[in-house]
Amino acid sequence: MEHIDRHQLKAYIDNELDIDKVEQAENHMYACEACMRTYISLLDQYHVQDSVSEGFTDKVIDKVDKQIPVQKYNLQQKRSSKTMSHYLLAAGLTILIMLTGAFQEIITMTHDQAAMERTSLTEQLMHKTNHLLDKIKGGQDE
Ligand SMILES: [Zn+2]
Repeated sequence: MEHIDRHQLKAYIDNELDIDKVEQAENHMYACEACMRTYISLLDQYHVQDSVSEGFTDKVIDKVDKQIPVQKYNLQQKRSSKTMSHYLLAAGLTILIMLTGAFQEIITMTHDQAAMERTSLTEQLMHKTNHLLDKIKGGQDE
């Protein structure tokens, strides 16, 4: 197997390779760890050298600018959302039910009715969780 030379890898990074050569290089890198490593190290060098260029810095700043407001927005949403805490409660209750009562039912079912009852068991779990949630919600409202 012939390895890809550095010039070709560099050309690949620069998007200067012909399409058929790109395919060739990519196929080779999937199969050849040595060339993949060379490619990654070249990529690292390439980005270190060029990271001072205005275009790259602008892109990074642009990305950061776009991401930060989204994160802030999500945090506020979570904090003010009561629905979220109900979801967490439901998840916790489901685990609790699974660990206690329902777990017994699963064991009994495997003996009596086998795996065909799996769907209805899930439904039962959902029903129980919803029922408990309604109880808790009702209690809070009073
Ligand atoms: Zn190779």
